[in-house]
Amino acid sequence: MIGISSYGGYIPRLRLNRMSIYQSMGWFAPALIMVAQGERSFCNWDEDSITMAVEASRDCLKGLDKEKVDAHFLCSTTLPFSDRSCAVLVNTALNLRNDIVAEDFTTSLRCGTSALITALEAVKGGERHKILVTASDKREARAAYFYEMWFGDGAASLLVSDEEVIAEYLGSYSLSLDFVDHYRGAQHKYDYMWEERWVRDEGYSKIIPQAINGLFDKLGIGMDDVDKIVYPCFFKGEHRKIAKKLGAQPEKVMDNMHEVCGETGAAHPFVMFVRALEEAKPGDRILLAGFGQGCDAMCFQVTEKIEQLPPRRGVKGSLERKKVVDNYAKFLKFRDLIQTEMGIRAEAPTQTAMTVLWRKRKMITGLVGGKCSKCGTPQFPKMDVCVNPECRAVGTQEDYEFSDIPASVKSFTGDLLAVSVDPPAIYGMIQFEGGGRFMADFTDCELDEVKVGQRVTMAFRRRYADEQRGFTGYFWKAIPIPGTEPPAPKERIRFDGRVAIVTGAGGGLGRVYALELARRGAKVVVNDIGGARDGSGGGSQGPADKVVEEIKALGGEGIASYDDVSTPEGGEAIVRKAVDAFGGVDILINNAGILRDRSFAKMGFEDWEKVILVHLMGAYNVTRPAFIKMREKGYGRIVMTTSAAGLFGNFGQANYSAAKLGLVGLMNTLKLEGEKYGIKVNTVAPLAATRLTEDVLPPDLFEKLKPEYVAPMVLYLASEQCDETGMIFNAGMGYFSRVAVVQGAGAVVRDPDSIPTVEDIQSNWDVIDSLEGAKDYYNATVALGAMMKGKDTGVR
Ligand code: NAD
Repeated sequence: MIGISSYGGYIPRLRLNRMSIYQSMGWFAPALIMVAQGERSFCNWDEDSITMAVEASRDCLKGLDKEKVDAHFLCSTTLPFSDRSCAVLVNTALNLRNDIVAEDFTTSLRCGTSALITALEAVKGGERHKILVTASDKREARAAYFYEMWFGDGAASLLVSDEEVIAEYLGSYSLSLDFVDHYRGAQHKYDYMWEERWVRDEGYSKIIPQAINGLFDKLGIGMDDVDKIVYPCFFKGEHRKIAKKLGAQPEKVMDNMHEVCGETGAAHPFVMFVRALEEAKPGDRILLAGFGQGCDAMCFQVTEKIEQLPPRRGVKGSLERKKVVDNYAKFLKFRDLIQTEMGIRAEAPTQTAMTVLWRKRKMITGLVGGKCSKCGTPQFPKMDVCVNPECRAVGTQEDYEFSDIPASVKSFTGDLLAVSVDPPAIYGMIQFEGGGRFMADFTDCELDEVKVGQRVTMAFRRRYADEQRGFTGYFWKAIPIPGTEPPAPKERIRFDGRVAIVTGAGGGLGRVYALELARRGAKVVVNDIGGARDGSGGGSQGPADKVVEEIKALGGEGIASYDDVSTPEGGEAIVRKAVDAFGGVDILINNAGILRDRSFAKMGFEDWEKVILVHLMGAYNVTRPAFIKMREKGYGRIVMTTSAAGLFGNFGQANYSAAKLGLVGLMNTLKLEGEKYGIKVNTVAPLAATRLTEDVLPPDLFEKLKPEYVAPMVLYLASEQCDETGMIFNAGMGYFSRVAVVQGAGAVVRDPDSIPTVEDIQSNWDVIDSLEGAKDYYNATVALGAMMKGKDTGVR
């Protein structure tokens, strides 16, 4: 049995919403509205008829033995070379055998169906057994032209064979007529179209029925013996009329796919035929016709084998994988229909050395690397020495094809400086399963969708176009597949059953702590007075309520408290709320804060007092009742909030600095008093963009300064996994470090029995001042002990 044994399809991922053409150009060509329905497919900037042909062919050959393919016909009217066999180029990319016939069929939209008939007849003649016939087209039209609306880009591939036939070839009939509906002169970019009415009336609607009826007569069958007819015709009305003329019921007529991708030129009969095969069942008869300077008509009967064909992307899968673009200018740029300034970097020479292309053709065009025959380690590129450090065998590399090996993203970047038609240029390291990696360009993706660990598929794409010499260079790129990244590691740190109080949680840092605690299972008391930045005014319930709503929306538990931390009653009330609502308190984050910055000389008592009251007294007011509850329970986590201003000083923040370092003192003692009750007390020095810092921090850093970058440290310190106590940590912008009060090694400057003089201090200054060998101490006693043991400098 002779016929089709496999099929493959490829429609580029990008679809242009046709309305966007009309929206941009309707002022100029209002009649465009008539055909502005649906979407047309279009090539990414690095795709063309060659790359699409490679993809459709790979899809067609999926799961099959490529070695058996003994001829390959490439059909297209838009090949990038007029003199260089594009079929041979595609063969090299596919790593097909060298001793096969590879031929380009071109210069007519009918070239696909003509090549198919040639292949079927060649296999029938017994000279060949498996011929891959691939049709691909990327047709150009001038901007704001009807044909820009009608055309689409795409490719499809059919394997003609004398075994495992899924659609048996019943016969063909061809008409060759020099009917010129359009043409493209050898040096021209665009087709010249003849008057539509003429093309419709004298062309499509006469020639297609004539060819199909010719086939019917030849095979002795009629329309009743056919289940589906496939013929391209982008005039919608005409497409229907032809069916009527042939006596075909509408359900037998394959849709011309105008709405979903547009007319894909020489590929379109195949694209529509593949679509028909995807829906066909054994026994169906499908009639296929291709129009262009005449018409080819063929008939096939689907066999049982179609049900055993391994799953593939096909045309259906390609249509489902899409990204709709409304940006008409992007479409024009990708097709080189508008000139943009590409910058000096784009002037770098791109000439390909034909010597290298020939010698390294397997590597560059076929993505063939090496595999060590001794240890089995794959590597790219192939080299004399095995990369496996335990092997290092020389001369053991065998060819190893990487294009179909599963791979994943190891690292990546988006580069706005690199020359790119679609910035940023995205590239990164990809790792192949079983071994082998290389730095690849990424394509068909958006930067924010790329993730480390995501799977990628390899695609043959244009690497560059050497305009000066008319050469297009190709290489393999990686396409990340969104949603395939490994699941985030399971959250090990949870707060289920824990009750947390976060003061000042109505906004800024506190809000993020509260949300994350709730998301991880804690019941949270969201305390906030809702006051102004400087603590003035009456306050409001709004901020705390809003955060509680957010917690509930996350599916968590939270309750609002509007109490003032700066009074003992306020502190008591906050803790009471936790006990009444949730039965206790396990975690306290002292976070509420205000600012009243003034240089010290201008700082009146009120500004001093108010800041101390909120920060330092506030921590006392809430911590004391909470600490008592924690002691009763034998468990607690307390986090104080200090600041670089307190730890190191900051001009104009004397009040704030004093309060913030006071909190460190409070922690130092509470860590000791809480020790035997399982209470750990730590301090965070955050850095984040909030209303407290909005006028001090540079706006361009705001994204990195999100409180979310601080929260992980605070939550860790609040978790039962945290064994630390009495520590201070910096946290901000993803940076974390420990801060400590340390004591230098120092020295006893006189013999222990005599009292040092002022001069002794002066003469020993270097050793007294030195922090060499400085240490932090757990408590005052230990620190004092170290002091007592101070070294004798011997200096008198
Ligand atoms: P923020 O102003 O957004 O949050 C502080 C919250 O505390 C506000 O919602 C406020 O209403 C509340 N509050 C003020 N007085 C209160 C009171 N008496 N009772 C209850 N609630 C009260 O500012 P933020 O930056 O999120 O500050 C949180 C903590 O972090 C503060 O202690 C601050 O000093 C400290 N801090 C922040 C940074 C930073 O870079 N943002 C740096 C160092 C320290």
